[in-house]
Amino acid sequence: MQNQNSMKAVILAGGKGTRLGLTDIPKPMVSVSNKPLLLHQIELLKRYGITDITLLLGHLGAKIEEYFGDGTKYGVKISYLTEDKPLGTAGAIKELDGIIEERFLVLYGDVMMDFDINSFIEFDKRSSAIASIIVHPNDHPYDSDLVEVDPDNNVTRFLSKPHEEGMMYNNNVNAAVYIFGSDIFQYIERYKSSDFGKDIFPLIMKEGLHKIKAYSTPEYIKDLGTPDRLENVEAAYLSGKIAAYNKANKRTAIFIDRDGVINKEVDNLKNIADFVLLPNVAEAIKKVNDSDFLAIVITNQPVIAKGFILEKDLLDIHKKLETEIGRQNAFIDKLYYCPHHPDKGYVGEVKELKIECSCRKPNTGMLDLAVKEFNIDLSRSYFIGDSTTDIQTGINAGVKTVLVKTGYAGKDNKYNVKPDYSANNLDDAVDLILKINDNK
Ligand SMILES: [Zn+2]
Repeated sequence: MQNQNSMKAVILAGGKGTRLGLTDIPKPMVSVSNKPLLLHQIELLKRYGITDITLLLGHLGAKIEEYFGDGTKYGVKISYLTEDKPLGTAGAIKELDGIIEERFLVLYGDVMMDFDINSFIEFDKRSSAIASIIVHPNDHPYDSDLVEVDPDNNVTRFLSKPHEEGMMYNNNVNAAVYIFGSDIFQYIERYKSSDFGKDIFPLIMKEGLHKIKAYSTPEYIKDLGTPDRLENVEAAYLSGKIAAYNKANKRTAIFIDRDGVINKEVDNLKNIADFVLLPNVAEAIKKVNDSDFLAIVITNQPVIAKGFILEKDLLDIHKKLETEIGRQNAFIDKLYYCPHHPDKGYVGEVKELKIECSCRKPNTGMLDLAVKEFNIDLSRSYFIGDSTTDIQTGINAGVKTVLVKTGYAGKDNKYNVKPDYSANNLDDAVDLILKINDNK
């Protein structure tokens, strides 16, 4: 990780910090645990070997230059560009047209972050996109700028707030960390104020010649534009959470079955209207979000293989799930579904999905994938389900299991297994898990 990384980084450091009550320093110099935010960012870049850094300055930029100089003191090489008038995030970047010719990383100077930059660079290398952007779920998607992403991580739409009443969406929020190719410059007009999320990305999408790829991660990336947020960020920093959430470190997860645990059990659920959340589900998931556990849904959906429902309809059902829990400030970090089913020979079935797969529970394929994507420690993780299939899955994967009394309540009798714990419902199960882990 200490190796020299050839990628250049650009930090948009022109922010004012009015809402933070800053008068004599610009926003990127705000102190987080006695160190300027910008220094936290530069140290993160250096940790990943990114030492060629350009700071785009605006308001009180001289203060930044005075503090960092040419960067030697911090083991990096810093150059500066100062804008005379605020040109928005994209307008500022345009000033690098002709200066940077290779792909480059862009950070916003008002965001506290710690993430595995190498993993994002690897994603970008595979993407052949004009831009790779980081997205993540947050606890207020209803008033956030959202990004619509297809199952292959292609951005299909940017949905700026305010959102239409009744719109269903996935909780993917633009985290404002980008990797761009130099072909991005042709989309930005010089000396004209413009913003990536509102102007440039939609323009690229509309033209349709280039792909924009979304990289989703639960690592800590949060802006600290208000005193409340700054306080939260400081607390997270001091608790060690910001560093601990870097993908290089193991995380723990609560895996949650869908039907009968999150929503009312309906045999072969295919109509979106039949997808109804059980009581206190959003509250339960919010508790998971507020803990150190990831909230990951693991569901068998043989309705696809059986031809009862198209994949896009299943995706709509999951938008409904994310929208409804999002209204109550809860989110899931990832949902995995198995579309397969092994029994062949039915009318209307989708033949290529009628297979013996490794993902259909009680196989552990979906959990294995989650382990790979999120670096999960299974031995400290849990599976909450309503069927013996879920419990068998948990046992097969080596996680602790909690059987809930909603849905099948373990009466499917498919496997002769005993859960580690029982609980009335998802909310009780989460309470139980959090209590066990509190006592450790
Ligand atoms: Zn499968």
